[in-house]
Amino acid sequence: MRYAEVCVNSPIAQRQTFSYTIPPGLSIDVGQVVWVPFGDKLLQGIILELSAFPAVEETKEIAGIIEPHPVLSPAQVSLAFWMSQRYLAPLFDAVALMLPPGFKRRALTFISAPVIPADFDLSSLTQEQRHALELIQKQGKVSLRKLEKTLGKKKAHTVISQLVRRGLAQRSYELEPVRAKPKVELHLSLAVDAAEAQQEAAKLHKKGASKQAVLLDFLAQQYKPVSLAEVRQRINCDKAVANALVNKGLVTIHHIEVRRDPLSHQDITPSQPLTLTDAQETAFKSIQSSLLASAKGDVSPAIFLLHGVTGSGKTEVYLQALAEAVKLGKRGIALVPEIALTPQTIERFASRFPNRVAVLHSKLSLGEQFDEWQRIRNGESDVVIGPRSAIFAPQPNLGLIVIDEEHEWTYKQHDKSPRYQSRDVAIKLAELIGAVVILGSATPDVETFYHAQSGDYCLLQLPERVTPSESSPLPQVEVVDLRDELKAGNKSLFSRSLSQAVAKAVSGKEQVILFLNRRGGATFVQCRNCGFVLRCRRCDVALTYHLAEDTLVCHQCNYRVPVPQACPQCLSQRIKFLGVGTQKLEQEASHAFHQARLLRWDSDTTKGKYSHQEILNRFRSHQADILIGTQMVTKGLDLPQVTLVGVISADTSLNLPDFRAGERTFQLLSQVAGRAGRGPLGGQVIIQTYFPEHYAIQAAAKHDYATFYDKEISYRRQLHNPPFSRLASLIYTHTNDTLCQREAERMRGFLINERDAKGIANLSIIGPAPAFIHRLRGRFRWQLILRGADLSTFLSPLSIPQGWTIDIDPVGLS
Ligand code: ADP
Ligand code: ZN
Ligand code: ZN
Repeated sequence: MRYAEVCVNSPIAQRQTFSYTIPPGLSIDVGQVVWVPFGDKLLQGIILELSAFPAVEETKEIAGIIEPHPVLSPAQVSLAFWMSQRYLAPLFDAVALMLPPGFKRRALTFISAPVIPADFDLSSLTQEQRHALELIQKQGKVSLRKLEKTLGKKKAHTVISQLVRRGLAQRSYELEPVRAKPKVELHLSLAVDAAEAQQEAAKLHKKGASKQAVLLDFLAQQYKPVSLAEVRQRINCDKAVANALVNKGLVTIHHIEVRRDPLSHQDITPSQPLTLTDAQETAFKSIQSSLLASAKGDVSPAIFLLHGVTGSGKTEVYLQALAEAVKLGKRGIALVPEIALTPQTIERFASRFPNRVAVLHSKLSLGEQFDEWQRIRNGESDVVIGPRSAIFAPQPNLGLIVIDEEHEWTYKQHDKSPRYQSRDVAIKLAELIGAVVILGSATPDVETFYHAQSGDYCLLQLPERVTPSESSPLPQVEVVDLRDELKAGNKSLFSRSLSQAVAKAVSGKEQVILFLNRRGGATFVQCRNCGFVLRCRRCDVALTYHLAEDTLVCHQCNYRVPVPQACPQCLSQRIKFLGVGTQKLEQEASHAFHQARLLRWDSDTTKGKYSHQEILNRFRSHQADILIGTQMVTKGLDLPQVTLVGVISADTSLNLPDFRAGERTFQLLSQVAGRAGRGPLGGQVIIQTYFPEHYAIQAAAKHDYATFYDKEISYRRQLHNPPFSRLASLIYTHTNDTLCQREAERMRGFLINERDAKGIANLSIIGPAPAFIHRLRGRFRWQLILRGADLSTFLSPLSIPQGWTIDIDPVGLS
């Protein structure tokens, strides 16, 4: 093979690879990282394929190898191609997810000045040009960045271009310095034997060099090299003293690589596997036999959906399945929705696999991430645990992928390219390498459950909580109709039922969670009297209030109506916006329950690295009676002293302008209800709503996934929403709202033409409409939604202008 297809780190490259010649004598492998010339730059590139023929006539040579060992496995290379194709993302964006932390480096531009001929007339230069030239000549070579700082960005570029054109300056390129390296600590040990050291120490004492003497004595008592930091701490002795002894040939300095361990601040006590309940055992046996069969290569491995109510012991099944994979010589990856919110889960994994768990997430320091990545690649961790990006960990011999709370929307990356769904990526990766997948949830994604029903996935169920079986059944759920509260003259945020229950719990020294879904707060208009919400007739989503125009807008099809003066249903004039934040809730709660100690948990109170854990620890150790929070409180927390969960309004998520609003509400309510009654005290949940009869609320109140699913899937079928189709969202942004809308309309026309020219049936193009977040950082956003079968293939060959963002399989609102 004389040619290589290389994926380069340049915005121009997009979904393409480029052909390069392999210079004779260079040994090149797929997955390796190299330098390549690209335009007039030198860039990082990853070898994705080797070939006997180049894709173009003229090819440049690979400039050199960055690292001899491939950083991507062949399966990861295939995965990167698949992601780029499916999510219409630049190849390098996909590849970058798999590179070691801190690996991505940009090329920096440097300017140097050649010797200027003696007869050159400097007065022919402008003052700025002369100034720039002086700067360059003074240092021989200056980075463009530095010149930009002194001359201003625009000026620097013009002046340098002028100088280059006249042959007075030259550009050259180098890569940014490496950002992450192994951490090396200096260690000290004796260079002579202990007896000699002690004699020397005595001599030094006499000469008055007592610090050196102390260090020698200290080292004479150690049996292995001691770090300089420890020496400093224990005998208050610094590097100069050590150097003095090195010069005398008495002490040796070692450079020892040390590991930055993200779990070092946690106390991990090893744990033993529990004896499985019958339901757990059945589930485990299925997974075990799939692991065995696929290890032998008999059958292709299965995808399991482990559907178990909260507290049914799913985690124990994951742990034992992972242990089984390890027994077969394989390794695992476990994905969790958001690592900062799940310290308990990490602890459980780490204690079952002591020192064999690696953690990967963006809140770790770059050094920690780097060390964990290296450790994983060296096969030193049986299980990698992390958020969605951990699916790209270089885990060798991967045999099992676990996705906990698989329905969570955090598994979809929506804010930057590639906009991937890690659940789908995991399933693709498993297919490529022959690994088993376990998707676990109490409230599976409707699409996942549909696959389980139709036999694509294997369904395993844990219908009951584990321990202790009688005293901890699923909590009682009461649904409070807010219309009745108003009729009774109660205008506070707390219904009579909820007030009483909170007061009772607090006086009984029990704990309470008050949950508020803030997203979408004041965006829909609701009648305070009867709860009526205006919805779009075509799209069946709630209309969103736009303050600037005092109008209600459908964020799918752009249907608009003025805000009515009176409620169309009951004619009441108390039609208003229901918007209340956690802060307001905290205020009202402190008035209503002044004897209670409050703790607030939301994105404002959790900026620090460990702040989630701190808040959680404070609540667990009962330093507060009431925890007030947003979605975060719905995650897998185990809080045995919580006996009451109050949902302030179930309607905020019900009225999001999204076809998944019902599903989202069901998930949130079920998850939040799962927080109550985890201990021997039992528990109760109170849900406040204007729609007590809504199927999502009814089903959540009865812990009845099956009924919810049946209703939901029939609506999906009727409206032809996923899983009966796939969606793509196309968002255009511009500083000018009218231009933005016009471009979106032009695009709609273009897409319709393309569709009709190709004769593609069942492809709808919905909109344009303002995006849910209509204005973001000064730019307006308009959206088109595509609904059809294979949108990636349809969109892939089209030329989509800059300013457009495509999200395949979008979730939530953006
Ligand atoms: P889930 O992940 O389904 O929410 P967990 O795995 O957190 O459930 O289990 C809930 C509780 O039950 C935990 O405290 C766990 O230690 C305990 N548990 C799970 N399986 C068993 C078992 N087989 N025997 C005893 N206790 C168990
Ligand atoms: Zn009304
Ligand atoms: Zn509409």
